[in-house]
Amino acid sequence: MKKMEAYLKCIRCGKEYDLGQVRYTCDCGGTLDLKRDFDGVDGMELKDLWEKRWGARSGSAMSGVWRYKELVFDLPDDKIVTRMEGNTRMYPAGKAGKYAGLKNFLLKHEGENPTGSFKDRGMTCGATAAKFYNATTVACASTGNTSASMASYAACSGMKSLIFIPEGKIAYGKLAQALAFGGRTLQIKGNFDDAMTLVQEVCAKLNIYLLNSINPFRIEGQKAICFEILQQLNWQVPDWFVIPGGNLGNNSALSKALEELYTLGIINKKPRIAVIQAAGAAPLVKMWKEHTPFEPVKNPETIATAIKIGNPVSYEKSLRGLKWSNGVVESVTEQEIMDAKAMVDAAGIGAEPASCCSVAGAKKLVEAGVIDPEATVVGILTGNILKDPDAVIGYHQDTLGKLGIKGTYANKPTVIEPDLEAVKAAVFAD
Ligand SMILES: *Cc1c(COP(=O)(O)O)cnc(C)c1O
Ligand SMILES: [Zn+2]
Repeated sequence: MKKMEAYLKCIRCGKEYDLGQVRYTCDCGGTLDLKRDFDGVDGMELKDLWEKRWGARSGSAMSGVWRYKELVFDLPDDKIVTRMEGNTRMYPAGKAGKYAGLKNFLLKHEGENPTGSFKDRGMTCGATAAKFYNATTVACASTGNTSASMASYAACSGMKSLIFIPEGKIAYGKLAQALAFGGRTLQIKGNFDDAMTLVQEVCAKLNIYLLNSINPFRIEGQKAICFEILQQLNWQVPDWFVIPGGNLGNNSALSKALEELYTLGIINKKPRIAVIQAAGAAPLVKMWKEHTPFEPVKNPETIATAIKIGNPVSYEKSLRGLKWSNGVVESVTEQEIMDAKAMVDAAGIGAEPASCCSVAGAKKLVEAGVIDPEATVVGILTGNILKDPDAVIGYHQDTLGKLGIKGTYANKPTVIEPDLEAVKAAVFAD
């Protein structure tokens, strides 16, 4: 297999940079892609190589990211920082499929990654890039999962981690992980977008490696969600992918992965992508539906804290991906997110609120006649149910009224006297 040399290319102006120096954005301010020259690369040979690595019991091929390293970051194993991430399950959606009105609905559970979210896929590649550039400290601004993941990968590879979290509600499971893994955590008096601006300045001035999703290596790692789904499906291409959108890095990665597989002839059709945002944090939806230029949302608000982002760094990559995939964009309300979550949870699968935009969005698009009920649809569940226990308990205790959310499918605990009759009365009354 011929090694493909990677370089950076601005998605706005096309300027190219080699990997010799740390770079997150172009001189023009545009975001950067990792590009490779596919000339003379045999897609079938690449696919066969990935097939041979499936189920590997040693080396970086055990990772569901590095199995595909030719299209991620082609380095020798001893240069790779990995927790053998990926290899997540894909479930028939069960109750959640019925709820969405879909016959063939699969849920790819990225919450089964080492730190409980898909962020590990990008982070293994980002942490490897940090080492590649001889960094000793890494930093990010995060609403939670990025910091949990970064702190873990830094701890595993002997780097320090510096975390900027916004003011206000952070899901407990995530903050707990960041602190436990030894991340130096700074709580900023401001929102996520303020934290993001600050961390970029800090990294530029203090020679710290930035691991937000503006980092092009993170996007490369996240592409492996797509590679792995297709490999699990025996390279049979589904009709749709449905995915939540916050900073929009994940859907950018998904569409880039599909475009590359298509260019290499590994797949012969491109699925459509639906990006789902929370109604209170939906700048992409606004520009898409109203045909207006991009404009950040000032005070983003949603119980799905992982996507509470008003000024997504990857919106240009996301738009490009939507064009490539003939994609659509939709928003869902707080109630729709939490009811869909109740169904994902009741199906025995479980996921954090942001993840369940995939199911809420699929349902909405089926009802609107955009997605055919017979279509094969893969929804991506981005994070683990235990990341945000408050949201679960609040819904089932029906105490989220102040957020305008009803416990439609609440499963309340019942307090009883400690005797058999009381159990019978409570459980078998009807
Ligand atoms: C980060 C995150 C998202 C949003 O992904 P983007 O790449 O920022 O669009 C969605 N869900 C969960 C659980 C996340 O951690
Ligand atoms: Zn540029």
